[in-house]
Amino acid sequence: MTTDEILARLSDGNERFATDQLNSDLQDSSRRKSIINGQKPFATILGCADSRIVPELIFDTGLGELFVVRVAGNIANKSSVASIEYAVAHLNTKVIIVLGHQNCGAITAASQGGDNGENLNHLLSHLKPAFEESKKTATVNDVAKINAKLTAKELIAKSAIIKNTVDNGNVIVVPAYYDMDSGKVDFG
Ligand SMILES: [Zn+2]
Repeated sequence: MTTDEILARLSDGNERFATDQLNSDLQDSSRRKSIINGQKPFATILGCADSRIVPELIFDTGLGELFVVRVAGNIANKSSVASIEYAVAHLNTKVIIVLGHQNCGAITAASQGGDNGENLNHLLSHLKPAFEESKKTATVNDVAKINAKLTAKELIAKSAIIKNTVDNGNVIVVPAYYDMDSGKVDFG
């Protein structure tokens, strides 16, 4: 599949999800057994850990179709970048989606500031650039959109592996935003 075909497939799956027409293909025991010896996912998703944001459902995909990395705030830290590098270098996924979303708790927490303890402070520090880029009147959802865009750039800036494949035209990194009201994902 070309990158355009992959984006179309994600978009079509999202349309089915948003309109209650999930086909739920490739989720049965025969699919499960057919991929025991290897995976060939067609896209990589960097999404939030939020229980409401389930990429396999949002894009109506089956087992082995998406390589999904989830961390609160869909941030580019060393572990998430390394996981995506694996998908690009070893599984040859051509499309990386950074999926921000409506009402993100990580972004809300970051907007409130304060001391959240060592671990959460570290995670929230990754969201600072999105706040710096946002206007003071920006909503949590505005910041989520900006964060997805900045994180998409950050994946390229932080990883020679990702950067090389993007520069060679083999991989695209696409920021996206999921709206829970409509169920729709906007790309770009
Ligand atoms: Zn979130």
